[in-house]
Amino acid sequence: PGASSGRTLHEGLLKGILSLADTFAAEHGREPVLMEVCGSHTMALAKSGLRKSLQGHVRLLSGPGCPVCVTDQADIDAMIAVARGDNRTVCTFGDMMRVPGSSGTLLAARAEGMDVRVVYGPMAAVELAAAQPGREIIFLGIGFETTLPVLGAALMEAERRGLANFSMRVSAKRVEPVLRHLLELKEIQLDGFLLPGHVAMVTGSHAFGFLAEEYGLPGVISGFEPLELAGGILRLLELAAEGKAAIHNDYASVVTAGGNPAALAVMDRYFRPSAALWRGIGPIADSGMSIRPEFAGLDAAERFPVPPGPAPKPTGCRCGDVIRGLITPSRCGLFGRSCTPYQPVGPCMVSAEGACAAEYAYSREG
Ligand code: SF4
Repeated sequence: PGASSGRTLHEGLLKGILSLADTFAAEHGREPVLMEVCGSHTMALAKSGLRKSLQGHVRLLSGPGCPVCVTDQADIDAMIAVARGDNRTVCTFGDMMRVPGSSGTLLAARAEGMDVRVVYGPMAAVELAAAQPGREIIFLGIGFETTLPVLGAALMEAERRGLANFSMRVSAKRVEPVLRHLLELKEIQLDGFLLPGHVAMVTGSHAFGFLAEEYGLPGVISGFEPLELAGGILRLLELAAEGKAAIHNDYASVVTAGGNPAALAVMDRYFRPSAALWRGIGPIADSGMSIRPEFAGLDAAERFPVPPGPAPKPTGCRCGDVIRGLITPSRCGLFGRSCTPYQPVGPCMVSAEGACAAEYAYSREG
């Protein structure tokens, strides 16, 4: 009975979405355009079949919320350069190993003999540093506000243990500046945002108020289950249809207005906003996080400075256009041909949360 009532609810939500979308299309002469701002939403929308069910009724764009996809070539190049030094171990998350830099990947660097390791998280790298005091352990940290407190907690642990051989290169990013940037670019017409529940758990729902107040757009903070996603899209279409610019928190079981004070305090202790390079987008002021100068001893960018590398060779990858909402993955000429999850050309196909990987796995034609 549980599964069948879930299915009925799902079908009911889907019917509601399609009906609202079609009314919107009749009034506006085009389908409504929504953007999800979270790699986990991208994957969940594809996996649940929702993206496919809504095709032709709602245009769902994947935004810049997959951390692997937006990590610039320069960060990969810098880590490879760091790994070349003597007595050093570079650690990062698994997905980062196959992301191309200007001329290679961390995986290729490991094959060349450099000590590059996959760890489950930054705390594992701290443990490695404690176990190998004679070796420099350098962690590449990526992610958004969801991950920044975890990175901060690892720095706190390294500080507490007085580990002089642990450092972190932080390539983590902030959601608000990139959303502002996309909206200021005015490249796409948007009717609302499906907002990231995990980021909002840390920042609080207030952090997204600017979308409604300054850009007149609605947003719904949603969970990750198919019913939550369908409910979020339905509510977003209701707000768009009413022309109501408001941020609705549909994930109130875990997201509060003010966020998680302990996580925000850890972030604030170790990091400060700084300019960041976004792959496929370019530099955006205050969109990154750097380790505060008082913790320079833990900052790999300070301890192991690397001069800027060569400009990346053109590959034909249109990942930047995908995450700016300009195209859907299958519009990239390489999609499913020379670029597949087995042989990815760009990060959107490498990442388990990338839009191209999601489309390849679940929504590919044929
Ligand atoms: Fe880049 Fe591959 Fe996606 Fe094309 S299909 S945009 S090459 S990741």
